[in-house]
Amino acid sequence: MSDTDRFQPIPMARMPRFVGLATFMRLPPVEDPADVDIALIGVPFDTGTTNRAGARHGPRQIRDMSTMMRRVNAASKVAPFQLARCADLGDVAINPIEIEVSLEAIEAFFREVHAAGTIPLSAGGDHLITLPILRAIAAERPLGLVHFDAHSDTTDSYFGADGRPGSRYAHGTPFRRAIEEGLLDPERVIQIGIRGSLHDLDDNDWAYEHGLRLVTMEEFEDLGPDGVIAEAWRVVGDGPAYLSFDVDGLDPVYAPGTGTPEVGGLTTREALKMVRGMQGMDLWGGDVVEVAPPYDPLGNTAIVGASFMFEILCLLADAHRHRTGGSA
Ligand code: MN
Ligand code: MN
Repeated sequence: MSDTDRFQPIPMARMPRFVGLATFMRLPPVEDPADVDIALIGVPFDTGTTNRAGARHGPRQIRDMSTMMRRVNAASKVAPFQLARCADLGDVAINPIEIEVSLEAIEAFFREVHAAGTIPLSAGGDHLITLPILRAIAAERPLGLVHFDAHSDTTDSYFGADGRPGSRYAHGTPFRRAIEEGLLDPERVIQIGIRGSLHDLDDNDWAYEHGLRLVTMEEFEDLGPDGVIAEAWRVVGDGPAYLSFDVDGLDPVYAPGTGTPEVGGLTTREALKMVRGMQGMDLWGGDVVEVAPPYDPLGNTAIVGASFMFEILCLLADAHRHRTGGSA
């Protein structure tokens, strides 16, 4: 069997979508990342959650719902499985009790992927998973970041009070740690969809002071999707970058199954347009995080998560084609 045949989704004509083992987008399960160009990976970790846990169940339900994805992006015309060898690399074996052990396990898994020259596309899990992923793939040089989220996730620590030290590793801290560790260039970070009540008015001051570009929903109202796309290109440019999509950037009407829902968010249509507007960026990885199935028994949030994974996959496959000179 040729690689072109081997790394295709199971054709619907051969087997209906609801039949068989659920892998991401009906791709073959693969163990060695060296066999593929883009690896779809589950990171079922939610021990970084500060309130409503449940994202550990995200990858499994996203795999199930991702069987709805087809082969070609009708809007961008990108056919990712023709441009890159894609497969399901399985889940990281995390430890749901020990954050530090899990962070090391995630980093080690993604180091292996990165060493093979393979681009990761991940399904979380809570947003803390992005930190060990960046530790694995951004060690050589800081990356830019396109970040969809209601929250900046640049808090310093949680639950420090009365002489008790706070926890520095939580799903609201990954981008502060990543910038401190030199994994992200703060002046090439754009955060889109920022909103919600604050603990204090200065909650996001650290992010502003370090040069991150926060696009609040109030500003989004003025700029619109096209204005935000232009701003993302101005900030991130054509240098190496990563795309992280927290489903709580969407309005809870579209993504109720998440740990920290905030009303007044993006519609799926607005977010689809903006994600597609990043086509052409030099992307080296991406993730969809914070899908928490226990709060959405209908599974719609996981369909949304799978759909945005497909959109990001199209961006990554297109970037892969550009870097490899047009061949798959
Ligand atoms: Mn987040
Ligand atoms: Mn969030």
